[in-house]
Amino acid sequence: MTNKLKYFIGNWKMFGSFASLRIIYRIERFCIRFKRYGKKNKIILCVPNTLISLFSSKLKSQIVSIGAQNCHQHQSYGPFTGSVSATMLKNAGAKYVILGHSDNRSEGDTNLIIKKKIKSALNQKLHIIFCIGENLKDKNLGKTFSVIRSQIKGSIDKKYNLNKIIFAYEPVWSIGTGKVPKTKELKKTFIFIKREIKKNYKIERFPIVLYGGSVNDSNIKIFSSIVEIDGFLIGGASQSSKKFIDIIKNYYK
Ligand code: PEP
Repeated sequence: MTNKLKYFIGNWKMFGSFASLRIIYRIERFCIRFKRYGKKNKIILCVPNTLISLFSSKLKSQIVSIGAQNCHQHQSYGPFTGSVSATMLKNAGAKYVILGHSDNRSEGDTNLIIKKKIKSALNQKLHIIFCIGENLKDKNLGKTFSVIRSQIKGSIDKKYNLNKIIFAYEPVWSIGTGKVPKTKELKKTFIFIKREIKKNYKIERFPIVLYGGSVNDSNIKIFSSIVEIDGFLIGGASQSSKKFIDIIKNYYK
């Protein structure tokens, strides 16, 4: 049920300037050194749209990829003030895009809108980081699995190329709060998600599923015992090269 490759994906949210290139350089240097020790990791930094072009043109190796954090459901160009499409992200140099993040769901993204966004991004040959997860109310009502099931069914069409979709389980109550799920609970949820997707989409291998929500350099070690977790979507802590690098180092300690 595990994929050997581990993903460490940063979600910078609304953070960063051109000067933040130094953060990316430090992470890239670390990854090149770390690779020599034989660790198989995929490092992706999802940055604000204003930085995608600069960062992707400056990175010298293939070891760190640049992604975006959202896109409009309309695939190319149109009268949508302030919006950016998958075509534009691709043109700027993005290889990945986060879709379905709870920040965007709370601003109005429904399962159907997210489904259209995924379609547009797949058409542009972007890889998707698709976020799912219950809020505190649903958790307390014991609805975690049913919420996750409807988010997946509502946004992932049977025709979509599942090889291009990375799932990120992010309980909303854990994002930016310092709270993380109990290990036993998290393991159960991961097993549920993986089985659910494999069964419903008739894929041969289990999908890639990441955990996201208040991951930091101190708590990362507790997640390494859950073999079903294929990596992490890291918000606040990915805005510092030291914290991000320490997360990777401490995971393997
Ligand atoms: C996120 O916003 O995707 C996230 C996981 O945030 P944080 O790590 O800050 O909780």
